[in-house]
Amino acid sequence: MKACAERLVFEEAERRIEELENNQLKAESFSTDEIFYFISLEDVQIVSCTCPGYTGSSLICKHMFLAHRVTNYVISQPQAVIPTHGSREPDQEQTLEEQRAEKRRLVEKIQDGIQSLITVEYWRQAENVEGLDSIS
Ligand SMILES: [Zn+2]
Repeated sequence: MKACAERLVFEEAERRIEELENNQLKAESFSTDEIFYFISLEDVQIVSCTCPGYTGSSLICKHMFLAHRVTNYVISQPQAVIPTHGSREPDQEQTLEEQRAEKRRLVEKIQDGIQSLITVEYWRQAENVEGLDSIS
C-alpha cells in the first residue's frame, strides 16, 4: 500500500518535469497552471532555475529538487548565496559558530521542503481550491 502511494507520487513528480533539447528541463509551476520554469543543465549538473524562488535567493528551489529526484542529474550549487537578515549591521562580522547555526537552519528548511514534496498529502492539496491557495 505504501509502495503503491510512493509510486503514484513519483509519477506525478515525473509529469511535472520535461526534458528539452537545449540542455534545459521544463518544470511545471506548483502554484499556477500554465506557468513553466526552465532549469539549466551543465553537463550532468542542475545549475539554475528561472523561478522567483531561485532567482531571488540563489538557493536551490523545489523545481531543482524535483528535477533531481526524477532524473539522473546532480545539483551543483558551489556559490549558493545565503540571504542576510535585515536587522544585522552591515559591517558586523558573523562568527564561524553563527554561520554554522545559520547554515544548519537553512539545511533543515530545505529538508522540510523535500519532505513536503514527497508526501502524498502535498499533491492532494491541489485537489481543492483551499489547498491550492495554500501552496506557494
Ligand atoms: Zn525553481
